[in-house]
Amino acid sequence: MAYHYWTQITHFLEKDEYQCSNCGNMFYKPYAICPACGVKMKKVKYEPTWVDEADEYDMLFEDF
Ligand SMILES: [Zn+2]
Repeated sequence: MAYHYWTQITHFLEKDEYQCSNCGNMFYKPYAICPACGVKMKKVKYEPTWVDEADEYDMLFEDF
């Protein structure tokens, strides 16, 4: 059985996000179960990923 985990993604200007290893969707919280695809999560993998913030700077998140 495959197991899934969140990858923590650290942003410079935004809140950290957690990316589902199964479906790739990102959330602001490491849920026990992925809200998008429903897989059970085992853990959070901390893997600082400093994405190019210039690309994402336009994105405004509503639940700020
Ligand atoms: Zn998922």
